Amino acid sequence: MSDALLSSTYNQILEIIAKVEPRVADATRAELRDQRSSLKLIASENYASPATLLTMGTWFSDKYAEGTVGHRFYAGCQNVDTVEALAAEHARELFGAPYAYAQPHSGIDANLVAFWSILAHRVETPGLEKLGAKNVNELSESDWEQLRHELGNQRLLGMALDAGGHLTHGFRPNISGKMFHQQQYGTDPQTGLLDYDAVAAKAREFKPLIIVAGYSAYPRRINFAKMREIADEVGATLMVDMAHFAGLVAGKVFTGDEDPVPFAHVTTTTTHKSLRGPRGGLVLAQEEYAADVDRGCPMVLGGPLGHVMAAKAVALAEARQPEFRTYAQNVADNAKALAEGFLSRGAQLVTGGTDNHIVLLDVSTFGLTGRQAESALLDAGVVTNRNSIPHDPNGAWYTSGIRFGTPALTTRGFGRDEFDRVAELVVDVLKNTSVGTTKAGAPSKAAYALADGVADRTHAASAEMLDKFPLYPGLDLA
Ligand code: PLP
Repeated sequence: MSDALLSSTYNQILEIIAKVEPRVADATRAELRDQRSSLKLIASENYASPATLLTMGTWFSDKYAEGTVGHRFYAGCQNVDTVEALAAEHARELFGAPYAYAQPHSGIDANLVAFWSILAHRVETPGLEKLGAKNVNELSESDWEQLRHELGNQRLLGMALDAGGHLTHGFRPNISGKMFHQQQYGTDPQTGLLDYDAVAAKAREFKPLIIVAGYSAYPRRINFAKMREIADEVGATLMVDMAHFAGLVAGKVFTGDEDPVPFAHVTTTTTHKSLRGPRGGLVLAQEEYAADVDRGCPMVLGGPLGHVMAAKAVALAEARQPEFRTYAQNVADNAKALAEGFLSRGAQLVTGGTDNHIVLLDVSTFGLTGRQAESALLDAGVVTNRNSIPHDPNGAWYTSGIRFGTPALTTRGFGRDEFDRVAELVVDVLKNTSVGTTKAGAPSKAAYALADGVADRTHAASAEMLDKFPLYPGLDLA
């Protein structure tokens, strides 16, 4: 798309929006300004292509299409069928999956679809005959109660939140921790690495129906062949949530035992993180689970978002291009450069480094909580998020870690030198941040003070780099 065309397209779109609600048009312009002028290091974010973004702004948004391709509960779904089938086809081809479901509205929705399809596939209900009924319409309220009890009495083993797992992997306050009896596996206290023998021992003892592998904040690769072996030994279904690292799988950085798709019975992902697509989810499955996953709507999903499925098709088509492999390799190389940049300046990293797109910095060595570090970095134009580290003494709210990710700035064109400079800037900010006090004068876990001049010099240094790698180059908003 030419620069002039991109600019005139967006300016016209914003003009149309401004005629109805100018404040939304203003906020949209401001969001681009903010994203352009900050170092976006949030590991779960990226910048989708203009083609992907524009695809979301169409009349597919207006169409209801509950059901599946060719089998809808509404008339007139032939074009939604086309885009959903395309998104699924690209996903199957890209990931080498026997089956793909493109409807989940988000990563959490994809996980809910996976959970319910595994339950539907694996759990033997008490049997209608045993309940004295010929069909489900004859079940009494107490029969349903028993069914619900049996479905909900299953066991799930997932990675603990403070080891890097996600809320939906059995965290108690999440529905996944309520609908399943859950146990969690952590990481080795010495190395911070996943200990497969410990996972196997826990699985043998707990005998889960589902083992979930995958993470939001673990800076290392997983051996999925080993996870499948463990699942097979205890008769569990292996579900992999690759929401974070799907781009590295798509870009063939994770291959062999590190590629989850051949080993997992069901694989879920988001499409908007390292995969660089629209906000949304996907479920991939082995044939055996396909029919159950296909019932995601109406099982746990409402009407599919046709405009987002269309954008998934566009983004997945992009991810099938050879350039995406270069991008994915750069994401991993840049994370290594960032980690080395931190280590060479004396900072401490969970697991001592990275071999994916995530770097998890332990900010307690700077005498700060994650909350203080996150705020000070934001003041200096460095956008990150605080994150628990294993056995975090500051809990999930204040935390002791800052999570960094390379997907977004790699999309802008940053390379190893720029990421080394990022490490230098971050360390400078953290070294110049001190702990503040509460109103009563006690040390606070939230208050902080950034030394004079640090925010300004960090902004100036970032601007120099960001100017070299413009976001949506050529896009000029009026
Ligand atoms: N799974 C993992 C591993 C994630 O990191 C996330 C998002 O943070 C999700 C699922 C949920 O994705 P969404 O925010 O799209 O629901």
